[in-house]
Amino acid sequence: MTIAIYPGSFDPITYGHIDIAERSSKIFDKVFVALLNNKEKNPMFSIEERLDMIKTSLKHLSNIEVCSYTGLLVDLAKEKNAKIIIRGLRAVSEYEHEIQMAHTNTILNDEVETLFMTTDLKYSYLSSSLVKEVASFGGDITHFVPDFVEEKLKNKFVEINK
Ligand code: ADP
Repeated sequence: MTIAIYPGSFDPITYGHIDIAERSSKIFDKVFVALLNNKEKNPMFSIEERLDMIKTSLKHLSNIEVCSYTGLLVDLAKEKNAKIIIRGLRAVSEYEHEIQMAHTNTILNDEVETLFMTTDLKYSYLSSSLVKEVASFGGDITHFVPDFVEEKLKNKFVEINK
C-alpha cells in the first residue's frame, strides 16, 4: 500500500490544489492532505475553516483523508506511515525553495521521497494569495475556487471591512 502526503497551507484551497489532490488520488492508494500549521505565516482562515473547505472540496475522493499538523512534515510522514511527499510545481521560481525543503526532509528522514507534480496548465498562474487579492477588491473568483470557498472569502472580507 503506497501512502502519500500532500502538505500545504490551503489558505484557501483553490482549483490548483484540488487538481493535484485528484491526480494524486489516482496514483497512490491513500493520500493524506495535510494542513500544516506553520506559525511563520499569517493565515486569513482559521485551521477549522481551512479544514472544512478542504474536506468539502475533496469529499468525492474516497482514498483521501484530511488532517492538520503542527510540527515537522517528516514526523507526520512517520506517523502516517507515508513514504511520499507530494508538492505541486508551477514556476521555476518555486524550484529553489522546494528543492531546499525536499533535501532537508531527506536528511531528516531518508525513507521519505518528495515527488513534484507539474501544475495543470490552466492553473499554472493560480495561488491562494492571488485569489485573496482579487477577492479583496471584489473581483470575480469563480474560475479559481469552488462556490462555497468563494462565499467564505466574500464573508471574510465583509467581516474584515466592518
Ligand atoms: P505552502 O505554503 O506549503 O506552499 P500552499 O497551500 O501555497 O502551501 O501550496 C501547497 C502545495 O500546493 C504546494 O506544493 C504548491 O506548489 C501546490 N500548489 C498551489 N497552487 C497550485 C496550483 N495552482 N497548481 C499546482 N500546484 C499548486
